Amino acid sequence: MKPQLIGGEWVASPSARPNINPSDTRDVIDAYAQADGEQAAAAVAAAAQAFPAWSRGSIQRRSEILDAVGSELIARAAELGQLLAREEGKTLSEGVGEVTRAGQIFKFFAGEALRLTGDALRSVRPGVEVSVTREPLGVVGLIAPWNFPIAIPAWKAAAALAYGNTVVLKPAELTPGCAWALAEIIQRAGAPDGVFNLVMGPGSVVGAALTDDPRVAAVSFTGSVATGARVGQACMARNARVQLEMGGKNPLVVLDDADLDLAVECAVNGAFYSTGQRCTASSRLIVTEAIHDRFVAAVVERLKGLVVGHALESGVHIGPVVDEKQLQVDCDYIEIGRREGARLLFGGERVSRPTPGHFLTPALFTEADNSMRIAREEIFGPVAAVIRVRDFDEALAVANDTPFGLSAGVCTTSLKHATAFRQDACVGMVMVNLPTAGVDPHVPFGGAKGSSYGPREQGRYAAEFYTRVKTAYAFAG
Ligand code: NAD
Repeated sequence: MKPQLIGGEWVASPSARPNINPSDTRDVIDAYAQADGEQAAAAVAAAAQAFPAWSRGSIQRRSEILDAVGSELIARAAELGQLLAREEGKTLSEGVGEVTRAGQIFKFFAGEALRLTGDALRSVRPGVEVSVTREPLGVVGLIAPWNFPIAIPAWKAAAALAYGNTVVLKPAELTPGCAWALAEIIQRAGAPDGVFNLVMGPGSVVGAALTDDPRVAAVSFTGSVATGARVGQACMARNARVQLEMGGKNPLVVLDDADLDLAVECAVNGAFYSTGQRCTASSRLIVTEAIHDRFVAAVVERLKGLVVGHALESGVHIGPVVDEKQLQVDCDYIEIGRREGARLLFGGERVSRPTPGHFLTPALFTEADNSMRIAREEIFGPVAAVIRVRDFDEALAVANDTPFGLSAGVCTTSLKHATAFRQDACVGMVMVNLPTAGVDPHVPFGGAKGSSYGPREQGRYAAEFYTRVKTAYAFAG
C-alpha cells in the first residue's frame, strides 16, 4: 500500500484503493491508502504546526527546495510520464510533456520565492511611512482533478510553497500515483516535516475535511462545476479564501478566411488530444458558411488517420477514456446528440483493442445547434460538435452564448476579426490560430463566468491567491 504523507511520516490507512490502468484494466499500478477524516485532520494539524517556521524561514532555502523538485521532475520525466500515461490514459508523449511542464512550474516558482515584491509609499501624514507587503495565508488545502494529475498539483503546490504557505494536497481518487511521486520528491528535496502533506481518499470525506477545517486558511480547487459549487459554499460559510477552476465548453471559431490546414490542426488537437479530457478542450467548432464543408471534410480525413489505443504503445494518438463511468457519460451524450438531431458524422464508437480498456473513437457531430445539450454541457470526452454560422458576428455571439468562459479560439487571417474576437470573447484565455487547449506555465490561467471563481492560477498572478496584502504605517517620532 502506498501510504499518506502526514507531518513528514509515511502513514498507512485502514483501507486502500487500487489504481487501475484505463488502457488495460488487468494492470493494477498499486494500492493507494484511503484517508478518513481523522487522517485528513492530522495532516492539517501537521501543516499548521509547520507554518510558522516555514513562513518566516529563509526564502533562499525555499527557492532551493522548489528548484530541486523541478530538476528531479524534469530528469525523471520519461519514467514519471509513463506512470502518468499508465494511470490516466494520456499518451506517453503527452504524459512526458506534462511531467516536464510540472518541473518547469517548480523552477518558475523557485524564482518567484525570491522575487515577491511590495510597495513603499509616503503617507499623507508627514513623517509617516507606509509599506504594503504580501504575507502567506497559512495552511492551504489543494484539491485536484484526475485529468492533469501532476501539472495541477504542481501549479498549486509550487505557488503555495513559494509564498510561504504550508500544504495539504488531496489528489483525485483515480490518479493518486503522480501526486504520490510528487510528495515523495518534495519531501526528499528537503521540505521540513509538515510543510507538504498528501492525503488520498474520497472527495466527500477528505476533500470535505479540508474545506470544513477552520485551520485551513484557503482552498484551491480544480474540478467539476458541481463539486466546485459545494467547495465554494463550504469555504465561504467560514470566510476561508477559495479559488475554483471548473469546466468549459470552449468554442473554436473558424472563419472563411482561415488557413484551412491550420484550422483543422487546431480543431483536431484541441478537441481530441488527451482524449478530449481537458477543461480547455474545443468541444464547439463554430464554422462560417463558405469554409464549412471543406473544413468538415478535412477534419474527418484527419480523424481517420488517428490511432486510438493503449496509451503506452507507440503510434497511438488517442489513449483511452479515464474509466468506465466517464466512458458511459461520453456514450450517453453521443446518444443525446443523435436524439437532439445532430448528425454523428464520424466515430463515437466503443472499440476493442488487444487489452481490455475504455476505448472510444473520436466523435464528430455536424448540423449541431448551440441550444443542444451536446453544445451546452461539458462532456469531458473526445466529442466535438460543429455549429454552422453565417458570419463573424454570429460566430462571436454563439461562442459567447454559454454558461462557461474558460478558453476560446479563432482561426482567421483577418487582423480585424482576430482583434475583435480577442476583445469581445467572454473568456479568461483567447487563442488566435492556436488550439483552445495548451497554455504556457508562466502566465495566468483561468476563466470567466461559470468556469472560474477567484484569482488566477500560475505565473506571478498566483500571488494574488496565495498571499494576503498587509499595509503597515510607521511614524519614526
Ligand atoms: P470532480 O469535481 O469530480 O473532482 C475534483 C476533486 O474534488 C477530486 O479530488 C474529488 O475527490 C474532489 N471532491 C469531490 N467531492 C468533494 C467534496 N464534497 N468536497 C471537496 N472535494 C471533493 O472533478 P474531476 O472529475 O476529477 O475532474 C474533471 C473536471 O475538472 C472537469 O469538469 C474539468 O473541466 C475540470 N477541470 C478544470 C480545470 C480548470 O483549470 N478550469 C482543469 C482541469 C480539469
